Amino acid sequence: MPELPEVETVARDLRGLVVGATITGARYDWPRTIAGVAPEEFAGWVAGRSIEDVGRRAKFVLLELGGGLVLTFQLKMTGQIFVTPAGTPTDRHVRVVMGLDDGRELRFRDMRKFGRVGLYARDGDGRLVPPGAAGADLFGRHGPEPLSDDFTVATFRARLRRRRGRLKPLLLDQSFLAGVGNIYADEALWRARLHPLRSARSLRPHDERALYVNVREILAEAIERRGSSVDDYTAPDGDGTMQDRLAVYQRTGLPCLRCGRPIRRIVLGARSTHFCSWCQRLPASDRAGAAAILRAGRVAERVAMRRVAATRRAAATRRRGARWSELPAGEGIVGRPVGPGRPAEPGA
Ligand SMILES: [Zn+2]
Repeated sequence: MPELPEVETVARDLRGLVVGATITGARYDWPRTIAGVAPEEFAGWVAGRSIEDVGRRAKFVLLELGGGLVLTFQLKMTGQIFVTPAGTPTDRHVRVVMGLDDGRELRFRDMRKFGRVGLYARDGDGRLVPPGAAGADLFGRHGPEPLSDDFTVATFRARLRRRRGRLKPLLLDQSFLAGVGNIYADEALWRARLHPLRSARSLRPHDERALYVNVREILAEAIERRGSSVDDYTAPDGDGTMQDRLAVYQRTGLPCLRCGRPIRRIVLGARSTHFCSWCQRLPASDRAGAAAILRAGRVAERVAMRRVAATRRAAATRRRGARWSELPAGEGIVGRPVGPGRPAEPGA
């Protein structure tokens, strides 16, 4: 699932492709993809609007349109955005198509249908609200942007000290911090040498600083590498390479890059969690509460390790074939692979 670095990469690619263009019309084949306005009114709202800028907030891509409107894309599990010449071959997973005045199309493709394309108005206070109707701010419940200049270690510390939960679920909580998901939460915790089941209240000041620094560093590095192209993520200008730099995510049973002991995997809140139990120690005060979770995790882990081996073999085969985004088309096609071949699977 795309997280802050992947969504930021999509937004940066799109900025170079669509700013200055005008939307001529829109069509959709799955009404529930449309958010903010009634699906049947969506085309009427966007037609004739110029695209003035492209940005990101949390895991949303934001297209600033003329007249103070904002087009939002939430990629969720499998959402992808492409800019193609009109007439480029399409497939049945393309949910929304917007025509542009220069003969290209902005396409939202989403196999699993959890993604959303929304239309909102920016009010006087900068909040995104449904246009022409009362409604809540789209980002009213989101926490701060971890890479913004005003997100300091002091801000982070103050937020952390108001929380009692364990670190992994806390990092995934979008109201605590915007944009972090399963991949970068696991990676930041490994880098900071903090156990995912550790409680926020057990952190000492140098642990808090380590978490702050490593969350920001892993996100910044992932943006530089255009994100992690695991599963379905790709950006308009091609895949990312961060998947080759991940230390724990989807490396169950492989040696820890720091100490050589096998990476462990547990399921926490229905999400897989990867860590090194040697480098990321649980303090005694957290051990009793974590014991049951870790015991249950051991069974799931053995199943997962067998599955990882099979998935790796399957992925290596699948990735050699063309992906939808790599189908040949005319000038301006996007979703090109980076370099002549695909990098090897990590640890393969
Ligand atoms: Zn280790």
